[in-house]
Amino acid sequence: MTIGRDEIGQRSETVHRANLAALVRELHERGPVSRSELVARTGLTRSAIRGLVGELVHAGLAVEEPAVRLGTPGRPSPVVRPNPDGATVLALEIEVDSLAAAIVGLGGEVFERVRVDRPRGHSSVDDIVGDLVELADEVRERRPPDDPLIGVGVAVAGVVRRSDGLVSMAPNLGWTDAPLGERLARALAVPVPVDVANEADLGVLAEHRRGAARGADDVLYISGEVGVGGGLLVDGRPLSGVAGYGGEIGHLPVNPAGSPCRCGSVGCLETEVGEGALLIRAGHPATGGRRADYADLRQPGSGAPAPSAALDHVGRWLGLGLAGLVNVLNPRLVVLGGLFGRIHPWIEGTIQAELTRRALPAPRALVRVVPASLGMDAPLLGAAELAFEPLLADPTAWMALRTLMPELASA
Ligand SMILES: [Zn+2]
Repeated sequence: MTIGRDEIGQRSETVHRANLAALVRELHERGPVSRSELVARTGLTRSAIRGLVGELVHAGLAVEEPAVRLGTPGRPSPVVRPNPDGATVLALEIEVDSLAAAIVGLGGEVFERVRVDRPRGHSSVDDIVGDLVELADEVRERRPPDDPLIGVGVAVAGVVRRSDGLVSMAPNLGWTDAPLGERLARALAVPVPVDVANEADLGVLAEHRRGAARGADDVLYISGEVGVGGGLLVDGRPLSGVAGYGGEIGHLPVNPAGSPCRCGSVGCLETEVGEGALLIRAGHPATGGRRADYADLRQPGSGAPAPSAALDHVGRWLGLGLAGLVNVLNPRLVVLGGLFGRIHPWIEGTIQAELTRRALPAPRALVRVVPASLGMDAPLLGAAELAFEPLLADPTAWMALRTLMPELASA
């Protein structure tokens, strides 16, 4: 078999694209790095790295800083940084209690961020889209007019069809089959893709890249507020099912004798561990809102962790749900987000005891349970990561587009 010259050319172009993509992803996800460290991480030659970095610098996606001698032997190597001003994304988030918008630069630098409370209860898709466009204008106006926006990512507290951003169900917003992606794209009128995903799926993405789950590729993320969301990473990839509807840990049926759930079923995990369940059991109104912390739910007296009956209830049911998931998925890490992250100090012991009692010994021994580290912004930061994905997957295509149509990149 002979290989034609064209084929060799195509193959080398494919390799070049892949190398450039690997480099941009490395800079975006892991931050500044010396050229010699890039050689070590990628296995490419020094001259190949020099050439690729040169292309990224030329395209505005990276900046190179002069070498600094640090007392280590050998020639000092220039440091390569992602250029946050070289490509930016608009991140939006729709929660039951709040709306948020941010502009994030390559490498994860958050330039602008705004979050506003919204009244609980049902709102039409068009009302929320209108409010989001106002927030988007507010953060975009603070950026230079030629800000190179490359995409929009949206996190929503609902079950989302990933192909077109249709929210098939968001019980706490009162939505069924809401065409959020399409409406937002039209209202924002930006010449870049608008991608919508479930907030917990994006929460786990953000915690994996920039938070508590860094370095762990098998992660179970469970986040509680009014609703309870779940996001799963298996071997570093999201487990989202056929259409993106998967990972709804909050709707795991756990108690056949339990309370009705907003999804229409009975005894879902959410009905035992969600904010409403916690507040009602603690003698507060179920609509307490996003509370700064839950310290006043502890038993009075010393500052030592002394879970009230309400916190104990949440810890036990959360432990039960997690035990089943640990048996099925054998994760390295369980990350507790939202409400669960805030009450972690007071439910940790109960969850651990429940896991030991109910999970199989082998996967139980391998799993750690930790609070999320990005706080309530995890889904918003995950939405930014979602919007960066096309650039990270193929920077060559974006660079070519930018050269051909510079006005697109600065629309
Ligand atoms: Zn349910």
